[in-house]
Amino acid sequence: MTPNLDLELVGLTKRYGATVAVDAISYHFSAGTYACLLGPSGCGKSSTLRMIAGHESVSDGAITLGGRDISHLPPAKRGTAMMFQNYALFPHLSVRENVAFSLKMQGVDAATRAARADEMLELVAMTALADRLPAQLSGGQQQRAALARALITKPDVLLLDEPLSALDPFLRVRMRAELKKLQRELGITFVHVTHGQDEALALADEIVVMNNAIIEQAGQTRAVFDAPKTAFVARFLGSHNVVSMPEGTLAIRSDAMKVTASQSARLPGTITNIEYQGTHVTLTAAVPGEQEVTALLSDRDFFDNPKDLGEAIGLDWEAGAAHALAG
Ligand code: ADP
Ligand code: MG
Repeated sequence: MTPNLDLELVGLTKRYGATVAVDAISYHFSAGTYACLLGPSGCGKSSTLRMIAGHESVSDGAITLGGRDISHLPPAKRGTAMMFQNYALFPHLSVRENVAFSLKMQGVDAATRAARADEMLELVAMTALADRLPAQLSGGQQQRAALARALITKPDVLLLDEPLSALDPFLRVRMRAELKKLQRELGITFVHVTHGQDEALALADEIVVMNNAIIEQAGQTRAVFDAPKTAFVARFLGSHNVVSMPEGTLAIRSDAMKVTASQSARLPGTITNIEYQGTHVTLTAAVPGEQEVTALLSDRDFFDNPKDLGEAIGLDWEAGAAHALAG
């Protein structure tokens, strides 16, 4: 029988003096999930991750893994491993020695260490570079070395703090595909911190949106994207308009906005910006109440019926495309 290795946060709290960085958050990560903690800078993502890893003490609440309370165990005894934002590779050690480092700390003999390190390097396609120093690697290669180093302890949960932020945009997209593939192959839980909504949407089975030390909304990625509960979540995930209408505050996806010339549309608007994006055109319009609304149109829809800056338009949407927001 496979053990249940779900990771659970129960009223988890982190205080730094008077600052409450994480305020009694609770969440259940099913084993084998790719989860993203998403939120703006300072909302408590790294503090949460570091508490799970054991690099930061828990002020209140608990962390369990497979039903075992790991809240106060040393990092190496938790079944978790952490990959840091800047990779934190030892500059004077070769790639192989970096990867083998934690086994050396555990007193594993040299031959076994080297063999296990080589296995991990094969997993991340770094075999040919095993004898190099970190300074002799590209950003993407350093990232793979750091991944191999984190995975050598065979963790049940891999914790990644902004793992792609040091990479250029092209490499970031490539490495995120590799992270996803690796997670699928290993079948372990990944908890990945990011402030990028594209990254979270691309990777996560489950998304945990944090704001001001709390979880604002969490769940299956598409369920959260399709039904943001608050204006914050709708705005932070992007591709949504938040519009105050007489019936209340609504979230309406940009791609659900229809642009018409009709003055009988739900919202009258004046075009303030038109951005050509290849396959799409993003049209921004000022609408009553000093609000702005964005419509994402296919290039075909736009150029079949082109509009100009300053033009008066109507904005409409199908009833099912809008949903009410709280707060
Ligand atoms: P995030 O990773 O989402 O940017 P952090 O968890 O790093 O957020 O920080 C959350 C809050 O806790 C911030 O207000 C930050 O300034 C504060 N904080 C983080 N680390 C410390 C620390 N070691 N000492 C004091 N305050 C901290
Ligand atoms: Mg952080």
